[in-house]
Amino acid sequence: MDCLFCKIINKEAPVDIVYDDDKFLAFNDINPKAPIHILIVPKKHISSVDHLEIGDKELMGELILIAQKIAREKKLKGYKLIINVGREGGQIIDHLHLHLLAGKPK
Ligand code: AMP
Ligand code: ZN
Repeated sequence: MDCLFCKIINKEAPVDIVYDDDKFLAFNDINPKAPIHILIVPKKHISSVDHLEIGDKELMGELILIAQKIAREKKLKGYKLIINVGREGGQIIDHLHLHLLAGKPK
């Protein structure tokens, strides 16, 4: 499977890592849309929210809690969490990811 985020997770492509555990990797977006722009990615390959199954319920809750943890560590007072779904929803990389944005957008 030719998936950039799977390559990043397998350390086959370099990124600026913000958080790493057995289920999730978070790294700085290469083309930030705000002063803080972090992508939080489940290590399990799921193409998009549209491909989620009922068994992914817990994983999706954990994804949000990782965002909260990173935001707290960075002492963010407010932030946006965005998930793009499908080409018409602005999704470019077909591996589910949560955008964490903070600071004034560019
Ligand atoms: P989306 O449009 O929701 O699929 O978001 C994909 C995001 O991945 C975009 O914000 C890109 O800037 C970002 N991106 C693409 N390639 C890389 C990379 N090699 N390292 C970090 N971020 C990337
Ligand atoms: Zn993948």
